[in-house]
Amino acid sequence: MDSDIITQIRQTVHQLCEGFPGAYWREKDRERAYPSEFVNALTEAGLLSSLIPEEYGGAGLPLSVASAILEEIHANGCNGAACHAQMYTMGTLLRHGSEEQRQKYLPGIASGELRLQAFSVTEPTAGTDTTSISTTAIRDGDEYVVNGQKVWTSRAEYSDLMILLARTTAKDKVAKRADGLSVFVVDMREVVGSGMTIRPIRTMINHATTEVFFDNMRIPASSLIGEEGKGFRYILTGMNAERILIASECIGDANWFIKTASDYARERSVFGRPIGQNQGVQFPIARAFAETRAAALMVQEACRLYDAGEPCGGEANMAKMLASEASWAAGEACIQTHGGFGFAEEYDVERKFRETRLYQIAPISTNLILSYVAEHELKLPRSY
Ligand SMILES: Cc1cc2nc3c(=O)[nH]c(=O)nc-3n(C[C@H](O)[C@H](O)[C@H](O)COP(=O)(O)OP(=O)(O)OC[C@H]3O[C@@H](n4cnc5c(N)ncnc54)[C@H](O)[C@@H]3O)c2cc1C
Repeated sequence: MDSDIITQIRQTVHQLCEGFPGAYWREKDRERAYPSEFVNALTEAGLLSSLIPEEYGGAGLPLSVASAILEEIHANGCNGAACHAQMYTMGTLLRHGSEEQRQKYLPGIASGELRLQAFSVTEPTAGTDTTSISTTAIRDGDEYVVNGQKVWTSRAEYSDLMILLARTTAKDKVAKRADGLSVFVVDMREVVGSGMTIRPIRTMINHATTEVFFDNMRIPASSLIGEEGKGFRYILTGMNAERILIASECIGDANWFIKTASDYARERSVFGRPIGQNQGVQFPIARAFAETRAAALMVQEACRLYDAGEPCGGEANMAKMLASEASWAAGEACIQTHGGFGFAEEYDVERKFRETRLYQIAPISTNLILSYVAEHELKLPRSY
């Protein structure tokens, strides 16, 4: 991608973020309120539809641009979690949906008229072992009847559409555990209160995450994406993009922490000199800077491979792991540099510190990434 275009997009994002300073995010965080104004501004600027092809009303840009957008949002102290799923979740529809489904939904998603932000995979009892999910979708004439429960379906209250993974054939009736799972695009406007119940979960960050219950929820059979029973594969194909984009957010967070810590270390004077003159203060920030630069190179490499259509599972996973660890190290250095003021809300450090911690766990935890690397890069026996 032309680096001038990326520089221009970064400037656009930077200017937009200036309208959403720390005070805006602090208030939303305190109230656990959804940042609708920010999401609307991103939508109006066309930034959330960057990955949707032009023929469906999007900008048709590569992942490297989406990565720059999310990184910049986070580097400017904002947070893309309220809407980042919109960017990659539509990939399931784009790659595996029918032309009719693409025409029906993608232009509305591109214009912002429709929100596809709910990605409902995780269940309370299955955890990371996705093939053990127990939500079922059973065909009944022209409909599927869905029963079960999801946990951590983020943004469900602020979404019109949901990508849902459910079991259509029992696990003991399929040759491979990954078979018999299917993906649906659910029009939530039709089923909330009539088969679907959403309950918010209050968490240590402002993330609009929820539990979703399905009680004989009836959806048209036309909601099925692709072939019945192949859903697990469809979900997996979207995961590399998700990991790379989350890694980009972590790089943004890390850069915010590093800049905030360095600025403070230059200005704060104790014992008659700037605290940043002490190596004990400099070194953790310098180390986090080096770790962030290294992780950013892995993110770039993962984007390059993804955009070239080459396999990038290892790079996408390693990018997410390294970037989430770099942002955590940078957050740790930043809070330590601020001393007591690191705990004061008005500095935004404690908020960003809480927010960035999520990415060592979601969308996939570090242990599972290491297991992936061990199995696929090192050819060691599968450990789970
Ligand atoms: C705020 C938030 C938002 C989220 N949003 C979404 C969403 O929108 N949609 C969605 O579907 N999900 C979402 N998730 C779920 C998230 O993807 C999972 O929490 C994550 O994948 C970890 O799964 P788990 O919580 O079930 O942990 P578990 O699978 O129970 O694992 C717990 C711990 O054990 C470790 N572990 C488990 N098995 C192994 C093993 N074999 N080897 C080594 N270690 C192991 C894990 O690494 C982890 O540290 C969200 C979660 C959070 C907290």
